[in-house]
Amino acid sequence: MKYKRILLKLSGESLMGEDNYGIDPNRLQKYAEEIKKVKDLGVEIAIVIGGGNIYRGVQAEKTGIDRVQGDYMGMLATLINAMALQSALEQNGMYTRLMSGIKVESVCEPFIRRRAIRHLEKGRIVIFGAGIGNPYFTTDSTASLRAIEIEAEVVLKGTRVDGVYTADPEKDKTATKYNSLSYQEAYEKNLNIMDMTAFTLCQENNLPIIVFDMNKDGNLMKLAQGEEIGTLITS
Ligand code: UDP
Repeated sequence: MKYKRILLKLSGESLMGEDNYGIDPNRLQKYAEEIKKVKDLGVEIAIVIGGGNIYRGVQAEKTGIDRVQGDYMGMLATLINAMALQSALEQNGMYTRLMSGIKVESVCEPFIRRRAIRHLEKGRIVIFGAGIGNPYFTTDSTASLRAIEIEAEVVLKGTRVDGVYTADPEKDKTATKYNSLSYQEAYEKNLNIMDMTAFTLCQENNLPIIVFDMNKDGNLMKLAQGEEIGTLITS
């Protein structure tokens, strides 16, 4: 295995499958199977899941809800996804712990760094729900921050496309894919891989990011084994 400890970032939208909202049970099951393959090889796995399939704070202001309130709604949305994912992982025979950035004591543990690391060492998959726990942040920033805190070797950003392109491949047919990029290049080309907070955290802490297609069977496994797929962003 190339990595001992990874942080997998899944967007909320990826859980929608073919739908426009909510959680597709087939997609959830597929993800659980992909994660299990890697877990069975002994890789320690932490997961950050977004909430965009249910709610994002930026939507709030359009509907008369204040932004901060909206961000907390978004954080709760990530917890709903995290609980669904936890359930799917457990049904597929994995041991898990859900840790939340905001206190939801009846449902899960609060995030405590040392405890998260201990869970990983014991072979449990740790899911970080509710983001960092503060408004005006995203789950990409959560992924970068938690990865640094738990000393993960890489952030694997699972998306619907197979890497970072020169332009949006769904709109521009001439767009080509980067196999690797430096943080500086990605920044100068304004490639929008993660929000700036998330991206800067990775850059300043030398934490590699790999953007890859999570919906393709076997991709997560290939990455864990060191195969070069997707786009690697590093110093
Ligand atoms: N959010 C937040 N603080 C955090 C993480 C998330 O306020 O630390 C809120 C924010 O409103 C965000 C929403 O939760 O839009 C859902 O997360 P995100 O948009 O990152 O989900 P994704 O795009 O990955 O599905």
